[in-house]
Amino acid sequence: MNKTALREAAVGCLACLLVLALAGTAMAQDSRQMVVQKVEAMKGDLLQMSEWLYRNPESGHKETRAVEMLTGYLKKKGWKVETGLNKIADSWEPILEKAWKMKTLPTVFKATYPGQEGGPTIAFLVEYDALRGPGGKAFHGCQHNMQGPIGIGAAVALAEVMKARKIPGRLVVWGTPAEEIPPPVKAIMYDSGCFKEVDAAIMFHGGDRTTYRKAGPSGMALDAFEFVFKGKPSHASSKPWEGKSALDAVILMFNGIDALREHSEPGTRMHGVITDGGAAPNIVPERAATVWFIRHFQRPYLDMQVKRVMDVVKGATLMTGTEVTITPQGRYDNRIHVETLERLAFHYAKQYGAADPEEADPCPETTAGSTDFGTVSFNIPSLELRVKSARAGCPGHSQEFADASVSELGKSALVVAAKVEASVALDLLTQPDLLARIKKEHALLKGK
Ligand SMILES: [Zn+2]
Repeated sequence: MNKTALREAAVGCLACLLVLALAGTAMAQDSRQMVVQKVEAMKGDLLQMSEWLYRNPESGHKETRAVEMLTGYLKKKGWKVETGLNKIADSWEPILEKAWKMKTLPTVFKATYPGQEGGPTIAFLVEYDALRGPGGKAFHGCQHNMQGPIGIGAAVALAEVMKARKIPGRLVVWGTPAEEIPPPVKAIMYDSGCFKEVDAAIMFHGGDRTTYRKAGPSGMALDAFEFVFKGKPSHASSKPWEGKSALDAVILMFNGIDALREHSEPGTRMHGVITDGGAAPNIVPERAATVWFIRHFQRPYLDMQVKRVMDVVKGATLMTGTEVTITPQGRYDNRIHVETLERLAFHYAKQYGAADPEEADPCPETTAGSTDFGTVSFNIPSLELRVKSARAGCPGHSQEFADASVSELGKSALVVAAKVEASVALDLLTQPDLLARIKKEHALLKGK
């Protein structure tokens, strides 16, 4: 067997590859130890940042103080920081404008560390928006206060090791705001070219389990549309035959989609509301409007399903002689989990003392919503690290979940997660075979 064939055989086997990745060379082990020590040395700063965010929550698009604090730390560590995304993709402009009367995303940030030439680019994604709680009071019920310190801790520690060891590659910390509210900011950022040079993306999300995900999709891809039908008004009693009812078109669309349900895969969700059904019963409605979310666990199936829905809409216009204006309102992709990456992170999580590690659930999950991280993980090999930061069964989006982020369990999860993110990124930078394998797995899953 020649050298290439040997390597092929080694990378062809997941178990072999993991051993390869985890054992590494003595040099790799030494670098990993160094990066873990650096995170440990920054622990006080990182926990302070998380606690500060917990005490100063800001909801989506208003996270100005959070951005100031997080980027201030990065600047102090020698990182170059750019704040705000001033040019967003044309397709998102009207959607953002309608939702928030905004043309830019002021609380996005990008921090880069000038690295060695060559090598891959690894992005650490961090969220920092709080939920809007009772009475409109913001609170960190989704533990996004932990993410900035984790991603920044990992990136800063790793950058110092890369410099000391002359490891080629680049690191970016992307601040991704307003995760809790539509439209999906990470999808806007992706379509606006933010992540175009990124080889792999890493983020953390708090939860009640230390686990990983098996290969496959999770979360739902979603396309949202508004349909405005235009008919012809007329007196509904004296000359109804002169009118064309836009409301009839909406009703036929609902019925058409209901007929479609039976012939759709079980993972399909189609749900709509009528936002305008006409003004008065004695006038044939000239205008009617409806908003729909169409979802599926996998983007390719969803794309096909959306075409079928559009045929139903066309049918509704033909049956009623109306016209329709269709406005996209948002697009989320499903997440894709690359098992090699997931297992690698899980290995380190266990090694660094994450609480109660458990085996993975198979993908896809049977109940799920949609997240803006989907678009990132659908297009770029990505890791959403899961280290237990709240008691088992603790409800998400609750005050208890927020409080857990600054409890002893939450604090220990934060430090473990920063070490895991840094170690995984170090492996991706120093083992081209591993990164190539992950990219290959991702491409295969995306095509499914
Ligand atoms: Zn969240």
